[in-house]
Amino acid sequence: MLLVMRQNATQEEIDAVIGNIEAAGFTARPIPGGHRMAIGILHNKGPVDPARFLGLPGVKELIPVTRPYKLVSREFKSTTTVVRMGDVAIGEGRPVLMAGPCAIESLEQALTIAKHVKAAGAEMFRGGAFKPRTSPYSFQGLGEEGLKIMARVREETGLKIVTEAMDHEVFDLVEEYADMIQIGTRNMQNFSLLRRAGQSKKPVMLKRGMSATIDEWLMAAEYILERGNEQVVLCERGIRTFAKHSRNTLDLSAVCVVRKESHLPIITDPSHAGGHRCQVGPLARASASTGVDGLMIEVHHDPATAMSDGGQSLYPEQFNILARQIFEIHDLVSKQGEI
Ligand code: PEP
Ligand code: MN
Repeated sequence: MLLVMRQNATQEEIDAVIGNIEAAGFTARPIPGGHRMAIGILHNKGPVDPARFLGLPGVKELIPVTRPYKLVSREFKSTTTVVRMGDVAIGEGRPVLMAGPCAIESLEQALTIAKHVKAAGAEMFRGGAFKPRTSPYSFQGLGEEGLKIMARVREETGLKIVTEAMDHEVFDLVEEYADMIQIGTRNMQNFSLLRRAGQSKKPVMLKRGMSATIDEWLMAAEYILERGNEQVVLCERGIRTFAKHSRNTLDLSAVCVVRKESHLPIITDPSHAGGHRCQVGPLARASASTGVDGLMIEVHHDPATAMSDGGQSLYPEQFNILARQIFEIHDLVSKQGEI
């Protein structure tokens, strides 16, 4: 249930309504909007009796929320959320490019790639320090050493860094170093990890579970917002289908649906969707045409020797051209009001 205050409601009236909601045993979550304040009523076990609140001074109306997710829905908040990290803003128009290797391998490797992607227009550097690998025998990442290298990259290039917190054990550590904490596809429904992310003061990027419906994905994001962290970016990274020609199937229609259903910014990851270098460019360009708020792309200066996902990593020169195409496509589509 969403309670909307009148435009001229005073702070005292807002406070009194919040007090009243809490006294009834619910949680009140103020949602400041452009012209008016709305208050979400959460944790109600059954229907809320509108009569209880409608007569209170300053209250305009009560709107039932029809979706299972509340805080992430456009019903609750109509304006798109902008996730900010210093001067980087995700959700404000121009797509934010996050690029880098699958895994951090050494300072030299990370810096070499970071300098390339920055020159091409990336604002964020991606890289795994703790890697979720299908096989326990594959390279698992450098751990804290990898995070330290990423911090050095930030220092030297000014790029913001995004990296995965794979489990509770490493969450605090990742939170300490990262500008944005990534929750990977395999953890999308790790509810205790989501709650932990909800307590963080850092932005969180939530990847779609590889077999998750959009409702399940948005409910997972709801866990993070419910704990108080509203700085969440959604990432479509491809889902499992019968297709064998790609690693996953990039579900671009999900971008349109999520944009309609949720105020959270949405980005795509064409690298883990395609899984083959030759598919990354087309999928990235197609993503740009949907008006995504950003793209996460794997880049390696020497993919043949990469410790993971070399086969889907772009060469720096390829990324350079692709980045320009992404911005041009975005500009073209947004100019014509198609986004
Ligand atoms: C990654 O981005 O490094 C990654 C492992 O992605 P995903 O969780 O989408 O597989
Ligand atoms: Mn990878």
